Amino acid sequence: MLSSYFRSNLIANPILRRAFSTTPIKPSESAPTISAVFRNITKDRTKEVPVETSVEYLKSDAYKQTYGGKPVWVLYRRNHKGSIPPRRTRRTCIRQGQISTGNPCPICRDEYLVLNETNIELLNQFICPHTQVVLDTSKTGLCRKSHQQLLVAIDRARDKGLITFDVPFRKYNYSEYK
Ligand SMILES: [Zn+2]
Repeated sequence: MLSSYFRSNLIANPILRRAFSTTPIKPSESAPTISAVFRNITKDRTKEVPVETSVEYLKSDAYKQTYGGKPVWVLYRRNHKGSIPPRRTRRTCIRQGQISTGNPCPICRDEYLVLNETNIELLNQFICPHTQVVLDTSKTGLCRKSHQQLLVAIDRARDKGLITFDVPFRKYNYSEYK
């Protein structure tokens, strides 16, 4: 009786069954596998992702799962020799359409982050909410090429009125204009 109980338990439990057989266990249809959650990471950057896809991506669950709802640069750490980081970040992460480094910057590592004036949600992550100054590369870790593209995109967004900004109050002495 004990052996029959053990045998039935053996067939039911996939871990026990694995210990006694060499045939691979097929994942059940109902439970999603962990690998399905993660995207296939490639170094190829020749294919351009449209801005609309990037805007949709920033609202998706895949984005929230990857970055935990934080700005894209928060979880990024630079790799450098010694304890003090170099003053400037690297010139570029992408050379000839391929990622040429092991630790690409937060914009280059994710091909779905497109710097464009219409992608306001992404641009706002790089603007200080209190001073409205664009965050420095020492904080965000962006490569110099991406940072330049970021500055252009933010300037264009401000020109088009997509990002609001305060104009400093100017006090005139109207007696001089009489
Ligand atoms: Zn980069």
